[in-house]
Amino acid sequence: MTNVDLAGWIRHAAELVSADADRLTRLDAAIGDGDHGHNLDRGFRAAVDALPTDDVPPGKVLVAAGRAIVSKTGGASGPLYGTALRRAGKALGDAEDVDAAGFGAALHAALDGVRDLGKAEDGDKTMVDALAPAVAAYDTALADGADLAACVRAAADAAAVGAEATIPMQARKGRASYLGPRSVGHMDPGASSTALLLRALSDTTG
Ligand code: ADP
Ligand code: MG
Ligand code: MG
Repeated sequence: MTNVDLAGWIRHAAELVSADADRLTRLDAAIGDGDHGHNLDRGFRAAVDALPTDDVPPGKVLVAAGRAIVSKTGGASGPLYGTALRRAGKALGDAEDVDAAGFGAALHAALDGVRDLGKAEDGDKTMVDALAPAVAAYDTALADGADLAACVRAAADAAAVGAEATIPMQARKGRASYLGPRSVGHMDPGASSTALLLRALSDTTG
């Protein structure tokens, strides 16, 4: 039995993104162009609309959501999040059930997708600074024998810490990098939304 409901995750993520869109946009207004909340809101609404209506394997749910986000979300974040979801979905393949190890592999695939496309290193003040520590915390929990829900909770907690840790960083990728040292002192909007999406995942995993 699968205890991660990925369609439920996408729906809950869309709700949280919509509720937090103004906050994410304010973060982006400080160091970017002030559209991150709006971009994600649009993307996740499209992802909800694209969810398969028939009973398909969890991997297919993520691929469908990712494809919708790539096509409907503007900005840098759309292709990055869409690629992450598609890669995660492909890693899950056609399996009907997702276990903790399989989901960990999907998270690694998502992170690899973001890194391949965006070329950001750790510490560049991007979503990678929330996602990479989340994947590392997931791995640690998994190695400790934690179940899937506990692994996801560890990942969500680490993403939140990772997002906070972007505040003192100077951006070296994306629009915020144009500000140079003036990007210091603000949380990266994409790191913050990654933490939000993983919180939504944790809420729907158990
Ligand atoms: P845009 O900057 O095009 O307006 P968004 O505002 O939707 O797009 O998203 C900005 C976020 O995208 C940033 O806060 C950062 O986390 C993320 N981002 C931008 N460029 C990269 C990159 N090269 N690699 C990883 N993440 C990136
Ligand atoms: Mg922006
Ligand atoms: Mg933009």
